[in-house]
Amino acid sequence: MTAAVIDRALVEALPKTDVHLHLDGSLRLPTLIELARQRGVDLPSTSESGLLRTVFKRNYRNLPDYLRGFAYTVAVMQDKEDIERIACELAEDNQAEGVRYIEVRFAPQLHTTKGLGLREVLVAVDRGLARAARRFNKRAAIVRGDEPPFHYGIIVCAMRFFEEVYSRDLGRFLRAHKHAPRNEVFGMASLELARAVTEIKRETGLPIVGFDLAGAEKGNPASAHRAAYQVAHQAFLGKTVHAGEDYGAESIFQAITDLHADRIGHGTHLFDTRSIRDPRLRNATDRRRYVDQLVQFVGDRRVTLEVCLTSNMQTMPKLESMRQHPFGKMLKHRLSATICTDNRLVSRTTMTDELMLAVDAFNLNLKQLRDIIIYGFKRSFFPLPYLEKRHYVHEVIDYFERVVDDHRARPRD
Ligand SMILES: [Zn+2]
Repeated sequence: MTAAVIDRALVEALPKTDVHLHLDGSLRLPTLIELARQRGVDLPSTSESGLLRTVFKRNYRNLPDYLRGFAYTVAVMQDKEDIERIACELAEDNQAEGVRYIEVRFAPQLHTTKGLGLREVLVAVDRGLARAARRFNKRAAIVRGDEPPFHYGIIVCAMRFFEEVYSRDLGRFLRAHKHAPRNEVFGMASLELARAVTEIKRETGLPIVGFDLAGAEKGNPASAHRAAYQVAHQAFLGKTVHAGEDYGAESIFQAITDLHADRIGHGTHLFDTRSIRDPRLRNATDRRRYVDQLVQFVGDRRVTLEVCLTSNMQTMPKLESMRQHPFGKMLKHRLSATICTDNRLVSRTTMTDELMLAVDAFNLNLKQLRDIIIYGFKRSFFPLPYLEKRHYVHEVIDYFERVVDDHRARPRD
């Protein structure tokens, strides 16, 4: 099978997942502008072209530059109906390009500035996603069982780091613990969040499927969040951790050994021996062995890497071309890696774009593309019982094969 059979029309038609998708980084630009006007939020520009030029750019200087846009998106996500609308539109945008399963992540504690509680924020997101799912799943092909339905899960993000300006509640939390070391306070905030989410899930039955840790890794180690992850684990939430995005292999090691991550957000620095700082690893041979063992563990235990190509290119100016991205190495080592968007608005991308980038840069064949897509379904934190998940995955695989056959049979112009 050659790479030549994989074109954009095929990728768009294939059933896909996006399991690393930030709600607050994936708004429709016209919606952001409209809500900002309604809610009196100042934007650096009120036109789409102006915002694309100044905030949501194709290229960023570094991670902080990339993160700047979130201040504006989060500012318009403080009212229930706005949050619900944004969640609904996100699901619709995914459905429109063939994505059948999404896990939407966000930090509900950032959406409480105007007085919403965590529960109200989570309910609003769920309502939006559920509305889009209901509408989509009414289609005849899905009702007949010819096509797999659309499903979704919600992942709650704790934060490695925050400041008073991030939200009213977090500001209060910091002031209430001003004598404690900062990392300890961040850990306490995560623990409180994990407890709250566990309780909300129990009381509401919302499809909260996972717990995540986001934010700058350097100086904000995973170990501060052990207690939170223990609570998440005991509630049987899936565990994912942003790690190896702007810091080395050690951050991935910590995500696995301190937080027992099932999946790793990014994992870009997995193979990077140069960034290792552990003084016990005295020379290059030690560091090589450390990375080899880590890769062995990630591969053997099927710890899934949520790879976001465009986002990594934007925040890691050191990567000169997509071919240098370690995704190629992940494939070579047969790791469980799936492709995700990270942020549809901030990275200006879609799932089809991301998969096409992978196909072109790494010359993927259909078998590799199939694995990448199916890992997304198999390693998802699917909200329904295991037997239903199995059934769904089989349904998706059958449909995948049918789409490929139809595509081959179709006359080319
Ligand atoms: Zn992310």
